[in-house]
Amino acid sequence: MKKIAVFPGSFDPITVGHVDLVRRAAPLFDKVIVAIGVNSQKKYLLSLEDRLDLLESVFKKDKNVEIGHYEKLTARYCQKVGAEFLIRGLRNASDFDYEKTISQMNSVLADGLESVFLIATPKYSHISSTLVREIVKGGGDVSPFVPKAIAKKLSKMKF
Ligand code: ADP
Repeated sequence: MKKIAVFPGSFDPITVGHVDLVRRAAPLFDKVIVAIGVNSQKKYLLSLEDRLDLLESVFKKDKNVEIGHYEKLTARYCQKVGAEFLIRGLRNASDFDYEKTISQMNSVLADGLESVFLIATPKYSHISSTLVREIVKGGGDVSPFVPKAIAKKLSKMKF
């Protein structure tokens, strides 16, 4: 049986911290699906189409990385794509507190779904999509925090 893992998130936008995590997780599994979880109540900076395109372009050379998206429950999506593992990143204690409960509930929702946590690489652990969005809205330069293609796209957009 193939070892498939889902790395879920909003990726609004994807940062170098996310990319680092995916590239560290990829050798551990046969396939890693980077999946955008869509919450219809939430307002995003980038459209789903833009986020999907950007993820595709960032990971086009990463052989066992695929891109997906889903609505509603992450656990349900994992079952649908045959993933037994969920990847999450831990930057600090608040990530841990938040992730711990979700992981315990997910393993009940999708029987045996195993969450795998990777500790953020120190040089990226201060980076969050939330702060990148604030910098974008304030007209600042986000190039140290996001892949090149994303910085280019964001610099051309009006917010
Ligand atoms: P969400 O919308 O679920 O908060 P994000 O897109 O912000 O999702 O992040 C998805 C996952 O990536 C989370 O597990 C988060 O902890 C992790 N992550 C975000 N930024 C970093 C980073 N700089 N280094 C490592 N992991 C990160």
